[in-house]
Amino acid sequence: MEVFHHRREIKLRVVSLKKAGKSIGFVPTMGALHAGHISLVRHARQQNDVIVVSIFVNPTQFNNKEDLVRYPRTIDADLLLLEKEGCDFVFIPDEMEMYPEPDLRVFSFGNFDKVMEGKFRPGHFNGVAQIVTKLFDTVTPDRAYFGQKDFQQLAIIRKLASDCRYPVEIVACPIVREADGLAMSSRNTRLTPEERQHAPLIYKTLLKAQETGRSVSPESLKKAVIDSINDDPFLQVEYFEIVDDKTLQPVKSWDKPGTKIGCIAVLAGKIRLIDNITFNS
Ligand code: AMP
Repeated sequence: MEVFHHRREIKLRVVSLKKAGKSIGFVPTMGALHAGHISLVRHARQQNDVIVVSIFVNPTQFNNKEDLVRYPRTIDADLLLLEKEGCDFVFIPDEMEMYPEPDLRVFSFGNFDKVMEGKFRPGHFNGVAQIVTKLFDTVTPDRAYFGQKDFQQLAIIRKLASDCRYPVEIVACPIVREADGLAMSSRNTRLTPEERQHAPLIYKTLLKAQETGRSVSPESLKKAVIDSINDDPFLQVEYFEIVDDKTLQPVKSWDKPGTKIGCIAVLAGKIRLIDNITFNS
């Protein structure tokens, strides 16, 4: 496994491999790797000759300074994990490498970022687009792998790749969960033992909502989910929305065609957890 710190070096290496006919699979991450990230690497391994993983805690996508400062960083353990998974290249730039000068680009996602994460984390998706475009320009992947846990991010990256005409296939990978159902996240390690114990209620409630499904209106279901999680003194719902999977806009009725996704963000103390569930049509 080779580790790169500079854009120019990894780009030259990838370009020569592509000339030799090798396909490049790319997994962008912010590190503190867990089984969710590793599942992306395994998907990439199955479909590509060369696997590139990037580790960069991107400051421009953090709307909360404290979250950025406290974001877990476990680079040595990450490298061991990636080596074990047969990753070929790891790209670990520092901030100066990715932002030698401030990135003033402003991206437009129409209504995609007016809801949910976009609404509650202003500027977040612009920061995501800034770093993902820089990474795509550097790694020039044939396929890039993203987790469905960040459902809105996935939709926005698909739009970005299509708007900017990147010749990359965006591959979605299923959510990986802990044994008790909690969606894996680098931020889970920052939960207190009590918060960690209560956090699985999020997925349990989503499963119950999925079961209830169309027997009640989306509005009633939404209220039931929010109330039942907020009943737990350790958890506070920031939003729960039932949205169309293509437009990301909240639905008022189940009758319109298309898949509906329930997306949630919950605060467990200071830690913000997100998750989502698909409603059967
Ligand atoms: P992050 O390091 O949190 O920026 O995540 C890097 C990639 O891993 C993103 O595409 C995430 O959606 C994905 N990811 C994070 N957690 C999970 C999970 N529990 N299951 C599947 N993918 C995940």
